[in-house]
Amino acid sequence: MRQCLHCSNKVIGRTDKKFCSAGCRSTYHNELRNGKALERYQLMLNRQLLRFMRTSSSQKEPTLALGALKSLGFNPDVCTSQREYQGVLYQYCFEMAYAVKENKLILLD
Ligand SMILES: [Zn+2]
Repeated sequence: MRQCLHCSNKVIGRTDKKFCSAGCRSTYHNELRNGKALERYQLMLNRQLLRFMRTSSSQKEPTLALGALKSLGFNPDVCTSQREYQGVLYQYCFEMAYAVKENKLILLD
């Protein structure tokens, strides 16, 4: 399956097509120009690792040592948004939320 270079969604159509939509194509090229491509790459990697945590665990809120995740390339500082609530920093990677506590990453339900 071919994946969109910007959002990783499935690409349908011509075999040389690289993006799922015109919007993804222009955002991708804008980010390349703005030097944001590396940040985007890290976000996509973070998302894949968090998705893997979600699908490979039967726990409601899977928890992993932060060091183990970092050794796979995860960077907890790169996220799509974050907010602090009652002294806990909640970070978001697209649709997934997580919190780091005592060197462990907790993937929130
Ligand atoms: Zn796309």
